[in-house]
Amino acid sequence: MLVDSHCHLDLLDLHSFSGGLVGVIDAAREQGVTHLLCVAINLENYPRMLSLVEGCAEVSVSVGVHPNERGGREPAPGELVDHAAHPRVVAIGETGLDYFRSEGELEWQRERFRNHIRAAKQAGKPLIVHSRDAKEDTLAILREEDAGEAGGVMHCFTGDWEMAKRAMDLNFYISFSGIVTFNSARELMEVARRMPVERMLVETDCPYLAPAPHRGKKNEPMHVAVTGRRLAELKGLPVEEVAAATSAAAVAVFKLD
Ligand SMILES: [Zn+2]
Ligand SMILES: [Zn+2]
Repeated sequence: MLVDSHCHLDLLDLHSFSGGLVGVIDAAREQGVTHLLCVAINLENYPRMLSLVEGCAEVSVSVGVHPNERGGREPAPGELVDHAAHPRVVAIGETGLDYFRSEGELEWQRERFRNHIRAAKQAGKPLIVHSRDAKEDTLAILREEDAGEAGGVMHCFTGDWEMAKRAMDLNFYISFSGIVTFNSARELMEVARRMPVERMLVETDCPYLAPAPHRGKKNEPMHVAVTGRRLAELKGLPVEEVAAATSAAAVAVFKLD
């Protein structure tokens, strides 16, 4: 059993997969993937995303606006809370800070992040946090807003061990993407070795970030199995144990059934 804890099924070029979305989910199931979390990046595409996965019982969704999204509607906390009442919604996000892809004055990004945290606490849902080149501000805002009350996941983690430890202290889990399969990701491999397996999740973040040896090609949920195998290697554990632990962590944090 594996859970792809972060994918963007609505951003896949579904026509290029035989069987479309059902084919993608079937291929994932053959690799042991029993549940998928399809993550929202803005409110404009959100209704389409929700209806896309409507017939797929193994797919849950989140609602939120990605830190790099500009020009769309800014989500009010109350609006996110309303969306979160839908039975398919298991998390708020993705939200966070991205100082790599956004430039200039980024107070709007921090304010948006704070609004998501407030909504998550109010809705009683965990957060999916995206953080890139923004370690100190991400941790400071999580602490200031008491985000640990909602808890959640640091998704596609690329930080160092110190950041992982501090995030875990704030009641967050750490999710590993295909980046941990890249030979250049030495620091991230070190984090994976040191992390308690009970606090780890796996994700594809597809259509982005295909793991090695698929790097640069199209990514899809079935490839989360490659990341699970890499984590097992790094930790010297049987792959079944990593699959069971990361799935249990996903079930616990997102209250999946
Ligand atoms: Zn992200
Ligand atoms: Zn994402």
